[in-house]
Amino acid sequence: MFSKLVIATGNKGKLREIEHILSPLDIEVIPQSALSVPECEEPFCTFIENALAKARHASKHTGLPALADDSGLCVDALQGTPGVLSARYAGDPSLPKDEQDEANNQKLLNVLVGEKNRHAHFYCVMVLVRYEHDPEPIIAEGQWHGEILTEYRGNDGFGYDPLFLDDKTGKTVAELPLEIKCRISHRGHAMAKLLQKLERLSHE
Ligand code: IMP
Repeated sequence: MFSKLVIATGNKGKLREIEHILSPLDIEVIPQSALSVPECEEPFCTFIENALAKARHASKHTGLPALADDSGLCVDALQGTPGVLSARYAGDPSLPKDEQDEANNQKLLNVLVGEKNRHAHFYCVMVLVRYEHDPEPIIAEGQWHGEILTEYRGNDGFGYDPLFLDDKTGKTVAELPLEIKCRISHRGHAMAKLLQKLERLSHE
């Protein structure tokens, strides 16, 4: 169907997972940073609108098919926030990514002090456009349910990984090896569905 795919994200954690999932395929995967794609605005209040904007933006700037991920953490006791604002929850986008993640996690711990309902889920929507104005973007979503801990556990991953306890394994995401996370996560589920759709399309 295509031999090159631009990944429309500057987030190294996401990129590592998406590259891992796509590695068995015969597709050249190119991070948008390698093609000098400027940062895309994410002004919308739904994941799908932001993902579409990012995919179209990357395709426009590269002339190549592009895959975007918009994702975030939705906490039940916080009416689904931080949601689309997960990356910028604690504000200050000028901070380096690691410090931003740390500030976000600290804010989440603070707002949940004394809260008994710790249930939350990660959500991810993946959007693939073949060209900027593709009228039929390929879209797939995934969720991952768990609990927000009261302290960090584990050193791997990114974002809220050290605070998110996976109900089934009893481990935080930051304690899970990459290949396990990629199999059971919101991103892993969304990618598996997206790849199934691509497979079906390639036989049409
Ligand atoms: P986006 O780049 O606007 O899609 O924001 C994604 C943000 O959601 C990240 O910066 C993290 O804060 C959070 N997030 C999404 N997926 C994950 C994950 O797999 N682990 C931890 N945090 C995540």
